[in-house]
Amino acid sequence: MEAVDSVGALLKAGEIAKKVKKEVEPMIRPGVKLYDIAEFVESTIVKLGGRPAFPCNLSVNERAAHYTPYVGDDSVLNEGDYLKLDLGVHVDGYIADTAVTFHVGSEMDDLMEASKEALENAIATVRAGVRINEIGKAIEETIRGRGFNPIVNLSGHKIERYKLHAGVSIPNVYRQADTYELREGDVIAIEPFATDGAGRVVDVPPALIFMYMKDRPVRNVHARKILSHIKREYKTLPFAYRWLQGLMPDKQLRFALSQLDKSGVIYSFQILREIRGGMVTQFEHTLIVEKDGALITT
Ligand code: MN
Ligand code: MN
Repeated sequence: MEAVDSVGALLKAGEIAKKVKKEVEPMIRPGVKLYDIAEFVESTIVKLGGRPAFPCNLSVNERAAHYTPYVGDDSVLNEGDYLKLDLGVHVDGYIADTAVTFHVGSEMDDLMEASKEALENAIATVRAGVRINEIGKAIEETIRGRGFNPIVNLSGHKIERYKLHAGVSIPNVYRQADTYELREGDVIAIEPFATDGAGRVVDVPPALIFMYMKDRPVRNVHARKILSHIKREYKTLPFAYRWLQGLMPDKQLRFALSQLDKSGVIYSFQILREIRGGMVTQFEHTLIVEKDGALITT
């Protein structure tokens, strides 16, 4: 009964994600280190019986995504920061991916409402047979209707076992060409991003998150050591630089990762920054598509 087991694992991962979001909330205040938040989130996931499906992303203000702290990272939250906390839980490879924005030391505001309401309106469109451009339309209209821009080159995604991004992107804007029709049982993450900037992100270094892609010959002994470690521990799911620190000195680790990247064995995720330095908010849920609606797991 593969289907039943998979739904059970998806729901368990989602329950863990929900609890972690609630438990971390009191920690979100000015002065707290991003490092401490990430470690709390990931250790709580493990304590509750899951595994991190990807490194805890803690992206502040104009950073939309893909920042995760490293050992020795002194960055702290400041009053008024928009913190996107994006966390992933997996149970036996079945993934829950969810994100919330906090306005540190402040109240929820219009920019946050825009992405939160966009997510609600997007979820309301979901059922088997719906084209994904209907989701993009709901998101785009909601965010623009509040006077902000959706980030057009970020999207949600279909999820499969051990595959965070399983081929289909769930758009944050309307495009006629997005004709994929949702099927009953599809697992999708919907994640609108709203900004007061231009509505586009660009890659900026450093890369603090990586993912195994495929085997290729690797000569460097440190690179080979890292490769066997990441394949065993993280399979095809993203991992953090932080998770590898301590296996070898940072300098060797950086070199090993750059060798693996150059040969195409791993993919490096750089930080995604709003192109005009606009503030960015994000909300995300994972859901299972049903005949007449959606089951939100997170
Ligand atoms: Mn996410
Ligand atoms: Mn996602």
